[in-house]
Amino acid sequence: MPGIPNRIEHRTLTETRDLLDSGEVSSEELTRSALDRISALDKELGIFCYVNADGALQAARESDHRRSEGTALSPLDGIPMSLKDVLITAGVRTTCGSKHLENFVPPFDGTVPRKLTEAGAVLLGKTNCDEFAMGSSTENSAWGPSRNPWNPNYVPGGSSGGSAAAVAAGMGSYSLGTDTGGSVRQPASLCGVTGLKPTYGRVSRFGLVAFASSLDQIGPFTRTAEDAAHVLKVIAGHDPNDSTSQQVEVPDYVQALGNADRSLRGLKVGVPREFWGAGLQPEVAQEVRAAIQILSMLGAELHDISLPHTEYALSAYYIIAPAEASSNLARYDGMKYGYRAPGEGNSIESMLATRDFGFGDEVKRRIMLGTYALSAGYYEAFYKKAQQVRTLIAKDYSDAFNEVDVIVGPTSPTVAFRIGEKTDDPLAMYLNDVYTVPANLAGIPGVSIPCGFAEGLPIGLQFLGRHFDEVTLLRVAHVYQSATDWHKRTPDLRVENLT
Ligand code: GLN
Repeated sequence: MPGIPNRIEHRTLTETRDLLDSGEVSSEELTRSALDRISALDKELGIFCYVNADGALQAARESDHRRSEGTALSPLDGIPMSLKDVLITAGVRTTCGSKHLENFVPPFDGTVPRKLTEAGAVLLGKTNCDEFAMGSSTENSAWGPSRNPWNPNYVPGGSSGGSAAAVAAGMGSYSLGTDTGGSVRQPASLCGVTGLKPTYGRVSRFGLVAFASSLDQIGPFTRTAEDAAHVLKVIAGHDPNDSTSQQVEVPDYVQALGNADRSLRGLKVGVPREFWGAGLQPEVAQEVRAAIQILSMLGAELHDISLPHTEYALSAYYIIAPAEASSNLARYDGMKYGYRAPGEGNSIESMLATRDFGFGDEVKRRIMLGTYALSAGYYEAFYKKAQQVRTLIAKDYSDAFNEVDVIVGPTSPTVAFRIGEKTDDPLAMYLNDVYTVPANLAGIPGVSIPCGFAEGLPIGLQFLGRHFDEVTLLRVAHVYQSATDWHKRTPDLRVENLT
């Protein structure tokens, strides 16, 4: 069984900040050690699609200078981290795992990267992901798959698999991913880290390359809920550049956890009947049930609840997300920017050749599905119907939250699967998302935290909360982590083990 770490690369963000504050380590030392780890391990793991070595070292030296002057910008100042390659970063290549954007160097930072830079974050690099965030295994990247640090023959989940794997592998203290149908929570589950999807509208999407605009949300991968609170505090809030980001107060998440007592007394936790159906791996069910018992021992009141439209969520998601994607991806035609296929031809031929070469199979599949669902004659039967189902699912959750404060269940129906196991069967791949897509359809926040192992691979526990109530989610996750040590396990990643 994996051990409890004391090595620096597996320290939490909070512990790392304390080391920096006490002068035991400098940001430059931390950054060099993370970069060394990446160069030793990443040939095998494929976690990064761009390593920002010079930029990171420069940012680290600037941070050390600030700290020596007593002007650190935030608790994140000087701490190495990474960003999923769909978040645009000024002067740092951003590819979305696609040949279309192979050479795209954005001229400015998106809002989240900008806020992190202003907080003093040190960007180690951009993490690999499924092309345009479409997938559940990070096998759809044009740059090859990322591998699971717990066992490199297995997927890290997706689409933000590189970000989840970076945190699990001790390459930086945290990473930002995006969650359209589960892409923060599911890879967090498969890699044994904490992954938070905030409420839709909590975090600005400005500078996030769009997949499905009504579902996309940026969220952190961390080692603990407390660390997630630190990152959320920096990235949350209304942004005039994103009209879907909401003007609601941003609580002090870190302080809210500091004030939380170690008990869950009085907290009403809903356990949905529909979350234990076919396809759920027995070991996952068993460990998640055991975790729910721990919540009860910590004082939570368990309630049996029903979310009656759960069985329609995947079907609705796999119409709405591709429909929005087909519209968002229309711009990659070789005319406006990005890749253009070589050749003579007229503009239509050029666009066809560009899109044929530039996109991978899964992205093409989504564009076709989405275009079909939106076309005259099919719109009513598919897209409109899916939107009606979406309304019913949102209502299931708002009804449930009249009775309970949080909902708990598995994050993913299985532990990580082998690389290649599901690539020929898109439907089997889509089934991974059965427990995560409802939160995106309803716009509510969710968090996944580790709660056990099966065959040496991590299992994730998911909490879902009311709109804009990330505080309760983080609190329940924090209290669980204060009573257990699943989140402290780390993979045994020695270079000699990998080769
Ligand atoms: N796995 C889901 C999909 O393929 C979710 C992806 C995501 O959240 N970006 O669409």
